[in-house]
Amino acid sequence: AKARANTSKSSGFDVFLPGAQKGQVVTRFPPEPSGYLHLGHTKAAILNNYFARQYDGKLLIRFDDTNPSKEKVEFEDSIIEDLELLGIKGDATSHTSDHFDELYRLVIQLIKQGDAYADDTLQEEMRAQRMDGIASARREASIEETMERFAAMAAGTDEGRRWCLRAKMSVDNPNKAMRDPVIYRCNIDTPHHRTGTTWKVYPTYDFACPVVDALEGITHALRTNEYRDRNPQYAWFLEKLQLRKVEIWDFGRLNFVYTLLSKRKLQWFVDNGHVSGWDDPRFPTVRGVRRRGMTIENMHQFILATGPSQQVINMEWDSIWAGNKRLIDPVVPRYTALDEAKVVKCTVTGVPEAREAEVPRHKKNADLGSKSITFGPTIYLEQVDAASFDDNEEITLMDWGNAIVRKKTLAADGSIEALELEANLDGDFRATKKKITWLAESPTRRFVEVTLLDFDYLITKKKLEEEDKFEDYITPQSRFEVAAFADPNVAEIAEGESIQFERKGYYILDKAQGANGRREFIRIPDGRAATAK
Ligand code: ATP
Ligand code: MG
Ligand code: MG
Repeated sequence: AKARANTSKSSGFDVFLPGAQKGQVVTRFPPEPSGYLHLGHTKAAILNNYFARQYDGKLLIRFDDTNPSKEKVEFEDSIIEDLELLGIKGDATSHTSDHFDELYRLVIQLIKQGDAYADDTLQEEMRAQRMDGIASARREASIEETMERFAAMAAGTDEGRRWCLRAKMSVDNPNKAMRDPVIYRCNIDTPHHRTGTTWKVYPTYDFACPVVDALEGITHALRTNEYRDRNPQYAWFLEKLQLRKVEIWDFGRLNFVYTLLSKRKLQWFVDNGHVSGWDDPRFPTVRGVRRRGMTIENMHQFILATGPSQQVINMEWDSIWAGNKRLIDPVVPRYTALDEAKVVKCTVTGVPEAREAEVPRHKKNADLGSKSITFGPTIYLEQVDAASFDDNEEITLMDWGNAIVRKKTLAADGSIEALELEANLDGDFRATKKKITWLAESPTRRFVEVTLLDFDYLITKKKLEEEDKFEDYITPQSRFEVAAFADPNVAEIAEGESIQFERKGYYILDKAQGANGRREFIRIPDGRAATAK
């Protein structure tokens, strides 16, 4: 096999699957339908898709539905939708549950070969025995006894539910993954979302994954390398059951700082009302980052650029957002918005009555067309800008011309209440230090009331350790909003459209009709500030 390349461009990377033949490769993306897709899953999906296409092979989407207590149809539907959004369509879709009969038949075969035993050791004790390399008291039960106990499990009787089934691999192999893993469990508490109450026992991931990979003709199983210890048990099952060999190819897990990439933990945030749902802009889900203005193209570029590395990467969010900014900056139209708080009303002397004029939506991209803006003697500036002006300072009103600060009126609290500016429209804008955003009052068009939303990380610790309880690190306030008013053209923007508010940043219209009828924009991080507050 060729060496793995570390990075490459969006076109893909120079990595090869061992033993891969053009036209023969079959990969699979096996999400458990227990939540929405997050960026970690995106990595697995994009890599599997990449290799399937690279070798003119096939990609299977398999719902790994062996734990009915966590799985739902809602999640399956969302996963399919999100994959489509990513431009990933499997050549076939299946479910691990499609193979429940066959898995059952094969586990009986294991028992009859003497390769499995039923165990009723309590969980804690089983864990301790496994750590210390001690055999379970049930390990040497006869095949008949095991068959009887497994039959009770399969029937879901009170007695059966005390037991689980374990593969008889090893008591004390230095690789703890080989110490008799559990392969079947009872579950009668929740009906399965597809098979209902037909089954009272379900295979575990450890057993189902290799078996179903082999049954479905997967040639290359891609997994994250924290499963590497389990590769020998994967091979053990295939060998004992005389199933086709599957090549395992592993890659480093993708993590982000200040972020939980685990459906179970994300579900907790949803259930406890810390977020508005699985598409919350603070969530690392495909829907969350989309809602926050991440483009699909950027996700692909990012994953393929960092993809095949073996290290578990703990990515800074800045790096993925900086890539996004490079993609959107040239193509999103530009508008103006001013923070409403203490906005300053100014009179500009030496200019004619209010008039409209067409200006480009983007100074460097004529394809984006033009917008009509108002120029006139009454304009508004933001307080921070107005407060920074010296007496008689010459400033530049962006896209209009220069003006000289002639008179300041202060409010009782010392803030600027009003300004008088004298137009010097032909003045040299290169000679001024301040290029100011402004909005002129129009006799016919109204400003658009907007809310600008920004978000912080949901957790306060950069990297949670194994022993940390994530519930102890919830950011007290992670949602921020500012009221602003925007140029009348902002009324034309559609939901989901990204723009730039000049001198503020990039925003995406989240709701055309938000709270109090205001248009709600979410700030698109640009990879510069860690997070704005
Ligand atoms: P979660 O804890 O979020 O449920 P999981 O690994 O249990 O993660 P699955 O639905 O089983 O979730 O994952 C589907 C595929 O996505 C698997 O192949 C898994 O290896 C991969 N995957 C999940 N999380 C990551 C990650 N952070 N980085 C890379 N691949 C991931
Ligand atoms: Mg899983
Ligand atoms: Mg999981």
